[in-house]
Amino acid sequence: MPFTWQLILYLRAQIKGLKRFEHIVDVVLPLALPKTMSYRVGEDFRSQLEFGKRVEVPLKNKLYSGIVVGPVYSKEIDYPIKPIVSILDEQPIVTKKQYDLWKWIASYYCCTLGEIMSVALPGNLKLYSETKITGVEDYEDHIADLTDDEYMIMEAVSIQGELSIFNVQEILNKKSVYPAIHTLIDKRLLFVKEELVEKFKPKKHAFIRFPTQYAEQEAWLTEVFDKVDKSDHQRRALLAFIQHKNKNNEALKSLVVKTAAVTGSVIKAMVKKGIFEEEKKIVSRLEAEEMDLEMLSPLSVLQQTKLTELKQAYENHDTVLLHGITGSGKTRLYIEFIEEILENGRQVLYLLPEIALTTQIVERLRKVFGDKILVYHSKLNAHERVELYKAAKTGGKLILGARSSIFMPFSALDFIIVDEEHDASYKQQDPAPRYNARDTAIVLANIFQAKVLLGSATPSLESWINAKEGKYGFVSILQRYGETLLPEIQLVNLKDAYKKNKMRSYFSKDLLTAMSDEIVMGRQIILFQNRRGFAPVLQCDVCAWKAECRNCDTTLTIHKYFDEVRCHYCGFRQNLPPSCPSCGNEHLREAGFGTEKLEVELKKLMPEARIGRMDYDTAKTKNQYEKIIYEFSSHQLDILIGTQMVTKGLDFEKVSLVGILNADKLLAFPDFRATERAFQLMTQVSGRAGRRHKRGKVIVQTFSPAHPIFTDVINTDYEGFYKREYEERNKTVFPPIIRAIEITIKHKKQHIAQEAGMLYRELLYKEIGQRVSALFTPSIPRLRTYYMQKVFIKMERDAKVNAAVKKWVQYFRLKIQNSKGFKSVRINIDVDPY
Ligand code: ADP
Ligand code: ZN
Ligand code: ZN
Repeated sequence: MPFTWQLILYLRAQIKGLKRFEHIVDVVLPLALPKTMSYRVGEDFRSQLEFGKRVEVPLKNKLYSGIVVGPVYSKEIDYPIKPIVSILDEQPIVTKKQYDLWKWIASYYCCTLGEIMSVALPGNLKLYSETKITGVEDYEDHIADLTDDEYMIMEAVSIQGELSIFNVQEILNKKSVYPAIHTLIDKRLLFVKEELVEKFKPKKHAFIRFPTQYAEQEAWLTEVFDKVDKSDHQRRALLAFIQHKNKNNEALKSLVVKTAAVTGSVIKAMVKKGIFEEEKKIVSRLEAEEMDLEMLSPLSVLQQTKLTELKQAYENHDTVLLHGITGSGKTRLYIEFIEEILENGRQVLYLLPEIALTTQIVERLRKVFGDKILVYHSKLNAHERVELYKAAKTGGKLILGARSSIFMPFSALDFIIVDEEHDASYKQQDPAPRYNARDTAIVLANIFQAKVLLGSATPSLESWINAKEGKYGFVSILQRYGETLLPEIQLVNLKDAYKKNKMRSYFSKDLLTAMSDEIVMGRQIILFQNRRGFAPVLQCDVCAWKAECRNCDTTLTIHKYFDEVRCHYCGFRQNLPPSCPSCGNEHLREAGFGTEKLEVELKKLMPEARIGRMDYDTAKTKNQYEKIIYEFSSHQLDILIGTQMVTKGLDFEKVSLVGILNADKLLAFPDFRATERAFQLMTQVSGRAGRRHKRGKVIVQTFSPAHPIFTDVINTDYEGFYKREYEERNKTVFPPIIRAIEITIKHKKQHIAQEAGMLYRELLYKEIGQRVSALFTPSIPRLRTYYMQKVFIKMERDAKVNAAVKKWVQYFRLKIQNSKGFKSVRINIDVDPY
């Protein structure tokens, strides 16, 4: 019947081209999609849909939870559009101001809204898609056709109604269950059911109380005591209840049980008797225990002057840089601002490097602000994260957090403090969004009309220049509180020391003598070495074999303590080989040294000293970290050897000597910020010495004592250092003189990375000319099995030019990734690389 066919085709074409009005809403999905997605809104959802609520939506046969980012609008369309499946929230979880920040980050850092959503929301608010399967009922007709596995699946499904993939694995007692499931789907006996499951469940606690009708009656109490007369247990429980009941006349059941030293069954019996009622209620995980707040000591005269200067600076500037040497009282000044703002019921965001959040500073602020503090850090569990996220909507709070806390749903943000503003951990490296939380905080503040205080003992060159050019206000305190002097710094020339036989292992005699002297005086020492593990290279001098990573172009670091060699980039590890795997030579050489080797060597040289070590290997968890801090601060250790970890946010009263084992390593990084970082690190480590009572001492061992950086560190000559560093960047044309984008092109096959890189660079060159460098291979060409090629873009400091360049950078990325042969090429764009 040819006529019918034609008619059907004709009608289909008509329907397809038919224009109609639909109600539509735009949604951000947690995927790296270039734009928002549109969905149809059914009649029943229209009144409940609101900006910032999560909705369940389909994409390519999967379900996702996305965020509604606009109003419902009506539009004439002629293409098929999928509907919203459900609304997941009663209250919005993202505010319009948050979304404004997301949009700025996406455009400035060249990333997608979905990538931002992934870091901005706590894990439990992003729903997971759990595959469930269900089956048809009349499968028994097909039993003859089924394998054993297939039969077992069908039987289980028919009994239980539905199964997860995990259930199927359990039933069949094997991992690979997809083939059987696929066959059953092909036979049309099974269906896959995609279902979103809300993971976050608020915590519930059992409370007990007197029955409401009696609660207020005096006589009831006498009656109750009569009722429990015969049971000692019940009487104790009653007394404990009276002791613990709160202003709502309720008490936490677990608390009553504990105080009365009875079992839960005692309470149960009392509920049965009608003495108590029991109810499960949601309690916040964040309710801090009440604690005594400490009185603040008054500001010193100098601090008072600086506070006035800061307030004046805010009259003309939204952002002020506070350059205060270690121990000058920056934190004390922050507290002044925080107090005033919290009293007005407004909010303060206090940003810190992650590691500093686990230490003394949080305790110190808790003593002042008690339960007004919310601390957002990576060690919180998933439930706590959600509660904290939601709590950030209330005013009168101080929110303390690492870089990702800029994504909180603030309601009344008035002030942002970025402490240690120079710290590299404010910049997210991988994955996208590669944002800098310090710079983003300034944009966030702008959205709220709030003020920003950047604080550091060693500001970044960027902020220093901004302050000198008048873009930021500037206040400096160059005196320690209590007027302890900054430590005296002594250089030890390693070349000389080796020549004159004045070295014992990696320690100069000067350093060893100074350490013994301090220990005798009952004081403590910090030793800094910027490398963990035992030694970075294991090699054979007979055949030139080296222990190398199979995923990266790098050597494996020896970890004797774990009896392993490990890759510090990808985590690959192997047992420590007893002899050369290539030629059998039993005398393998360990080149270089890390903190672990220092500890072993120092124990030999100073057997009576109590030595501890703090690095990523010994302080991986919060507990391990706090244990070491506790041991050192309670003087159970004389010497603490550590990596960068020892430089941040610590304040030990008895530390009078700091040793830097090998300063040259700090200067040798192939990075335009190497000198700046070395200056900051040395100054920060030095700041750990002699903080309270006595002038401390720092001993720096180096092969190149003539390097001008040491003069600056010794004289604490900030002006001198920044001036020289600025001139250097001017000469070599690097940020902050210009703006930069670093682009990495990656692929598992070397030639594909190379070809894609060449093409990408060529396309860019045609549009932006000399601003793009030639394609180059990074110093470690392969990481985590990916070969890499790079280009570096330098742009004039001009917003229009920057925007245009970023447009091309993204346009050509898409173009390359859509062209044949390059679909699996990864191109990472890093704006303002750090
Ligand atoms: P920074 O943050 O600049 O390193 P801090 O605010 O931590 O400086 O102050 C350094 C030390 O001096 C701390 O131990 C602090 O308790 C103490 N201190 C600072 N200002 C005062 C003050 N006005 N009164 C008493 N102690 C102070
Ligand atoms: Zn060998
Ligand atoms: Zn590796």
